[in-house]
Amino acid sequence: MISKKACAGWAAAILSKGVNLVDYNATRISFSWDAARRELDGLPGGGLNIAHEAIDRHANGSRRNQVALRWLDKAGQAHDFTYLGLQELTNRFANVLQGLGVGKGDRVFVLASRIPELYITALGTLKNGSVFCPLFSAFGPEPIRARMAIGEAKVLVTTDTLYYRKIEQQRDRLPQLEHILLVNEEGETTIVANTHDFKSLLDAADDHFTISPTDPEDIALLHFTSGTTGKPKGAVHVHAAVIAHQSTAKFALDLQPDDIFWCTADPGWVTGTSYGIIAPLTIGATLIVDREEFEVERWYRILQDHKVNVWYTAPTAIRMMMKFGIELPRKYDVSQLRFMASVGEPLNPEAVLWGVKAFDQPFHDNWWQTETGGIMIANYAAMDIKPGSMGKPLPGIEATIVRHTEAGQVVILDEPGQEGELALRVGWPSMFRAYLGEDERYQKCFVDDWYLSGDLARRDEDGYFWFIGRADDVIKSAGHLIGPFEVESVLMEHPAVVEAGVIGKPDPVFMEVVKAFVVLKPTHVANEALRRELLAHARKRLGATVAPKEIEFRNDLPKTRSGKIMRRLLKAQELGLPEGDTSMLEDRRMPHE
Ligand code: ATP
Ligand code: MG
Repeated sequence: MISKKACAGWAAAILSKGVNLVDYNATRISFSWDAARRELDGLPGGGLNIAHEAIDRHANGSRRNQVALRWLDKAGQAHDFTYLGLQELTNRFANVLQGLGVGKGDRVFVLASRIPELYITALGTLKNGSVFCPLFSAFGPEPIRARMAIGEAKVLVTTDTLYYRKIEQQRDRLPQLEHILLVNEEGETTIVANTHDFKSLLDAADDHFTISPTDPEDIALLHFTSGTTGKPKGAVHVHAAVIAHQSTAKFALDLQPDDIFWCTADPGWVTGTSYGIIAPLTIGATLIVDREEFEVERWYRILQDHKVNVWYTAPTAIRMMMKFGIELPRKYDVSQLRFMASVGEPLNPEAVLWGVKAFDQPFHDNWWQTETGGIMIANYAAMDIKPGSMGKPLPGIEATIVRHTEAGQVVILDEPGQEGELALRVGWPSMFRAYLGEDERYQKCFVDDWYLSGDLARRDEDGYFWFIGRADDVIKSAGHLIGPFEVESVLMEHPAVVEAGVIGKPDPVFMEVVKAFVVLKPTHVANEALRRELLAHARKRLGATVAPKEIEFRNDLPKTRSGKIMRRLLKAQELGLPEGDTSMLEDRRMPHE
């Protein structure tokens, strides 16, 4: 195992290269969201619009001929779109919407792979003042219909292949849905009854468009949560979110103009829109978009061939790369890679350090949620990483640990090391403004001026935050609170283990005991001796109370389609209980968060 010092050295090395966030304390003190807003342009006629900040202000200025979006097709072939080119295409799409009578506040859904039309739709919709609502393309027909019904979809952009079929039979159950625009991925015209051909409409539209003033508080985005803990919720975000997208991309991802940035997340999830579309363009970077799903060598080739500087990915993907071994990444020249970050699930220390072995630098974990709209807590480039910690709250973000009282109040836990719910002081611009159609649930997220995240964490004496687990997943055993993440991370230290999911199993004596589900590397065979070895390893590292009492070997773990381990499902299966909402359960390997 690599020493933790390797990470400390990295911070010093990166500082010498010049980073956005150098003096954390001074920046936090001088930071204000008003000042961050002034770094943006604002609309010429007043107001704020995400697409203007992402596209038009660069297209109207010196970056006009810089590549904004480099799209990699199935064969890995690159197709470049400059800021100017993207401006014209998104203007056209906004005019298409106008022509269809789609206006401010109307919902435009997309169900497609990561194809250029998805990005044109996203930004053109925002220009038009309509609401962009991405769906994850691997959803089945029912989750798609349910989300479109909640979101009152007026327009759907999809492809004429597989995806259209998922919705075709359900149109009469979606009375608000007026228009379906079909994309033919081969660039041909599609003629399907009661639909429009995307390309024909786009080709015929004017490439000039003036954005009508959008208020910073106008609704811009509708994102559904991952459904890890239950039925997904529709989180509403406004145009002001772009202030946080830009500032967090600078601070947490160290993103700089001219960077080549690859966010592996699909826009069907909030990461893939906030950081896979908006933030990098706002900064003036070049965005890499890969049409295809994870394939280990393809990914390494993308890093090398497109000279990616900043890379934002997820723990599941990192663990999959780890599974393929260390020799593979070493064959590729990724010397231009400056910063690597991860989000979506806790990042096991083993995975942070694997980054050093594979790419000569650690992965930087950061924490946020669909509800927060942007990164809140991060290991920023210049800080010394403590592997396993989520890092520190970004400038403009006040995070704390709270305990609930019986009277419905919250008490702030100031002492380092105290465990409780992670809370954020309200007021950052990308905070969600509603759970669509679920006002009571929304109100419950707030006490006084704190937003309660539903995650448990603690803060150490240096101000670093450590994830314990989702409130629903935490195990209570013999008077102790045990976070599954800690146990899973220790199991992953063992060379045979690739992934682990840990739950609490009811026990008459201890209330709950820890049970682990373990996936082995292909090179190892599940047997009694290995089980005993793993139990002993965990007991040695964690002590008898926290270590698992039972280990079960599995070929894989149930995950959401965004790649998060569904512990509630492991538990339901273990206890023979109903599985609850499983519409988000993946049915194939999907590391795109
Ligand atoms: P649902 O709310 O529908 O159950 P979800 O919470 O998984 O789904 P997201 O908003 O996509 O939906 O995920 C946010 C959650 O993911 C966080 O609340 C946290 O539990 C987890 N998470 C994200 N990043 C990290 C991280 N760096 N470390 C630990 N947990 C993380
Ligand atoms: Mg959640």
